[in-house]
Amino acid sequence: MKKIKTTLKQRKNTTQFQLTIRFIGLLISAVLILSLAIMGITVAELYESTEKQAELLEDSLKNSDAKEAKEWQEVLVKNTSKDSSLYLIYVQLNSGEVIYSSDDAEEVFQEFPQLKQFILVDRILWTSEIEPYYYESFKKEGAKVTILIDMEDQFELIGRIFSLTIFITLAVIVFGSLVTHRFSKKLSGSLVIMDEEINQLNISDSKQQLTIPKTPQEVQNISKSFNQLLVKQRIYLKREQQFVTDASHELRTPIAAIRGHVNLIKRRGVSHPEVIPTSLDYVDKESKRLELLVEKLLLLGRLDTQVDTESVDLSLMIQQTVEELKVMMSQEVILNIESGIFVEGQAEHFYQIARNLLENAMKYTDAAGTITVELFSDEATIHFIVEDSGMGIPDEEKAKIFERFYRVDQSRSSEIFGTGIGLSIVKELVEKYQGAIAVTDVLPKGTRFVVTLVK
Ligand code: ADP
Repeated sequence: MKKIKTTLKQRKNTTQFQLTIRFIGLLISAVLILSLAIMGITVAELYESTEKQAELLEDSLKNSDAKEAKEWQEVLVKNTSKDSSLYLIYVQLNSGEVIYSSDDAEEVFQEFPQLKQFILVDRILWTSEIEPYYYESFKKEGAKVTILIDMEDQFELIGRIFSLTIFITLAVIVFGSLVTHRFSKKLSGSLVIMDEEINQLNISDSKQQLTIPKTPQEVQNISKSFNQLLVKQRIYLKREQQFVTDASHELRTPIAAIRGHVNLIKRRGVSHPEVIPTSLDYVDKESKRLELLVEKLLLLGRLDTQVDTESVDLSLMIQQTVEELKVMMSQEVILNIESGIFVEGQAEHFYQIARNLLENAMKYTDAAGTITVELFSDEATIHFIVEDSGMGIPDEEKAKIFERFYRVDQSRSSEIFGTGIGLSIVKELVEKYQGAIAVTDVLPKGTRFVVTLVK
């Protein structure tokens, strides 16, 4: 029962149903208003023409010289000669004498006291057989003249117009409903197909897409946008899957190393205690690597969360980051920072950009080297440069270092603590702000990272 109810409710909410109902409503109102207007005008016209006929008759009778009964008789016959059953006249002379225009008139006037009158149209009287008569009465030199004009024909005409209007109204409603129903079905049909296709869509099958209908344009646009979204979603999904695989792989390596050394201590710790300090060193180093890796992975997850942006004092932030790292730096640091440079965004993001680049410069430059940090802006751009006199990056590796988990020459980097995530975070963040990052060589030795941000 509940299911039927929901389906009915759902049906009522469909565009097709809503469109049909509204169209039918509009159609009925339009046709009814039009019919009523036509009927109203016709009735008014017919009434007016009868009124005019009565006036003409009244004028003609008033202008006659009739005084005596005989003269009246002649005048009445003359005036009703066109149609004696249509114009019925009754004259009551001062003397009490009564004259009728015809036998029909006499018959109707006999019934006169019982004729019915309605408030709004008090000029129309109704017989017991529901025959309408227009009524007019006046006095001429003591004679009381009453005119009745038969309105049966007019009412018959109104009746015919009324039935015809009802018939046309019904026909238009039936035909109109059918047309609107079919039209709205055609309109919403493509939406129904789209819904079915979405339900059956397999996101991991890269070939599957929505069919793009020719009409209506709106649905065509939605289908196109949906397909574009699908492509983006699939790329995103693939990247995520790749990331999970890479991350698990990266996490497994230090864990395996830790377990290996723990087993070694267990097996040979007692008989060869000299292995313990070296193994513990490894365990310490690998667990630190794990800690750092987890920290960076968590950071990666946090990057996409939407937080309100603010105006960040980039000059101050970079200076503070350098200060923070300085205690660990054995290299000479040259600072060239223009003050008062602000950017719109999340402070954490700019801190991560600066920290990762500075940490790398520290890690890959020997103690006697130099690290130069520059920040300046021109009209439209902000430039942030971290330059070192370290080991440098071979040309063929330059593009790869921004990939997740990529480290230049594992054997070379193995001595230096790292995860291979830092630069991928930096690149992602810079691009989030429509900026760019470039890496170039420094001669004779070293690397320069240039971050450009739009002001
Ligand atoms: P990591 O944690 O290994 O430093 P990054 O993503 O920050 O990870 O860097 C990726 C790789 O790029 C590093 O492993 C290193 O080989 C290279 N690299 C990054 N910065 C520098 C630099 N300033 N000088 C030389 N090599 C660098």
